[in-house]
Amino acid sequence: MTKVLVTGGAGYIGSHACKALKAAGFTPVTFDNFVTGWRDAVKFGPCEEGDLTDRARLDAVFATHAPVAVMHFAALSQVGESMQVPGKYWHNNVTGSLTLIEAAVAAGCMNFVFSSTCATYGEQDNVVLDEDSVQMPINSYGSSKRAIEEILRDFEASDGLRHVIFRYFNVAGADPEGEIGEHHRPETHLIPVMLDAIDGKRPALTVFGTDYDTPDGTCIRDYVHVCDLVDAHVLGLRRLLDGKGSRVFNLGTGTGFSVREVIEQSNAVTNRAVPYEEGPRRPGDCTRLVSGSTRAEAELGWTPTRSTLPVMIADAWRWHQTGHYDK
Ligand code: UDP
Repeated sequence: MTKVLVTGGAGYIGSHACKALKAAGFTPVTFDNFVTGWRDAVKFGPCEEGDLTDRARLDAVFATHAPVAVMHFAALSQVGESMQVPGKYWHNNVTGSLTLIEAAVAAGCMNFVFSSTCATYGEQDNVVLDEDSVQMPINSYGSSKRAIEEILRDFEASDGLRHVIFRYFNVAGADPEGEIGEHHRPETHLIPVMLDAIDGKRPALTVFGTDYDTPDGTCIRDYVHVCDLVDAHVLGLRRLLDGKGSRVFNLGTGTGFSVREVIEQSNAVTNRAVPYEEGPRRPGDCTRLVSGSTRAEAELGWTPTRSTLPVMIADAWRWHQTGHYDK
């Protein structure tokens, strides 16, 4: 079967991508250093342990598996941490990605699907962001991802490396079949932190900032279900394998929800009240990030089916209650 190298295949989005790839008839080969990934999330194909900055290890993996494409998820992804230790983000995300890109080109693997972020857009006046919106990141996480996008463009010009870049908005939910889900240590993302608070695994959710210029004073984000997101990746991969050119796609729903609205939805879905307190802003957070894109639907035929807040929270809550989350 046709192999795809999935970096970060043991992580939250990467493991869901491996499941989707397998269902689509590909063999996902996970490449992961297991710093933030989980061994029991690698269930859908072979596993190769290694670090992205280890060129010799990457060369060996490309030689062993001869993948037709790379799906590159492995990255550090915490906005707050990226503001405190930016060097860690530049080293890990940019140096690691550059080493991977060079290894892929050297191996003749010229199809590359890259996991980028709406954090590359930064704080902007326009309400919705499309792929042509100017990129002005305000945190080191976003800056590091924007740099990798530029590296991909350079390697397309020099070597013909074709790529699809997906700029994610806020990914949420879990595999509805309960095989895999979100599991970060430490957990910093809104929905799992909220579910932790409901479950008594932490005293309360802290709402980061209530003085933003939004109707209820809290930040607005566009939440997309992880299963819809990885479906788009399979479509992006097929686009490359069909010989089409490089392209950038936003992956969001076009609708934003405030932190308070997410809390309200969660109360309704779980039938439990989220304990929360109001706190100061988190450095690096934008006021509003909402995808205005219909490009993925029009050009990839992407049709998100689970990206409503009640479904995302219900799927996350079901996963949360499996006990995997407590490890
Ligand atoms: N947020 C919050 N409390 C938390 C975690 C997140 O108020 O404990 C807010 C955060 O300020 C942002 C939104 O929830 O407005 C989504 O944050 P998350 O970390 O989930 O994703 P990000 O937008 O940083 O990628």
